[in-house]
Amino acid sequence: MLPFAAIPFTGMTTKLNTLNKIAGNASSQKMPVLFVGHGNPMNAIQENEFVQGFRAMAQRLPQPSAILCISAHWETKGTWITAMEKPKTIHDFGGFPKELYEVQYPAPGSPLLAKQTSEMIRKTTVGLDEKWGLDHGAWSVIKHLYPQADVPVVEMSLDYGQGAAYHYDLAKELNALRSKGVLIIGSGNIVHNLRMVEWSKMYEHYAFDWAQEANEKMKHYVLNHDHSSLINYSAQGKSFQLAIPSPEHYLPLLYTLALQDKNETVELFNDKPLAGSLSMTSFRIG
Ligand code: ZN
Repeated sequence: MLPFAAIPFTGMTTKLNTLNKIAGNASSQKMPVLFVGHGNPMNAIQENEFVQGFRAMAQRLPQPSAILCISAHWETKGTWITAMEKPKTIHDFGGFPKELYEVQYPAPGSPLLAKQTSEMIRKTTVGLDEKWGLDHGAWSVIKHLYPQADVPVVEMSLDYGQGAAYHYDLAKELNALRSKGVLIIGSGNIVHNLRMVEWSKMYEHYAFDWAQEANEKMKHYVLNHDHSSLINYSAQGKSFQLAIPSPEHYLPLLYTLALQDKNETVELFNDKPLAGSLSMTSFRIG
């Protein structure tokens, strides 16, 4: 597939329609959707089973025309989408080795995808952003998926003023992008309580009881297509309250689930806890 930026949307639709006719199966062209647990920013430069999991998954995906990433690390008033030609690599963390701050992920942006995504969404006005770039929720994972940095990437922000159901409904409006070769990635962590992290076990597959309970329940709901229980996460008891002390790492999951078609299956990967109060559990939809 040609780079997204090179093809006007209508042209791509025509091209896909032609391909669909040839293939005789329109659904074969629809891109899967990923939720990735990004975890420690050091995953960007470490060799471990999680980055191997990201790589293995990317090898099984159709080649995307572009990536739209909803990252836990870009919260804004209202919803924004990066619309610059060359998004900068943002090192939005503190206290890590110099080597991590030197990482650059020079994937191009796609002003065209940003504009057309903004125009597609009816629920709210999506602003075109020229200042952000790629935060580590995006680049620390996408660099393992597409190490050549040759797939255009845009990010869409999380409106911190809105609740879970709003985000879920907004995400539904992105569905048409899947048929245009766009890989939609939600990047967060379904169990993410930094205050309770056992720092001495940062690299151990260790979970507190509540973390394991929350992770298992969330997986159960995801695998059984029970989205309403996940949208109503605040009513799911103590383990969910501890796993989701603030919503930003959880909401990207809802963005990806909202894009699941009725008969699409979900595949788990990187399903491991870390440091007591984190999990790297990731999902592929479709
Ligand atoms: Zn994070």
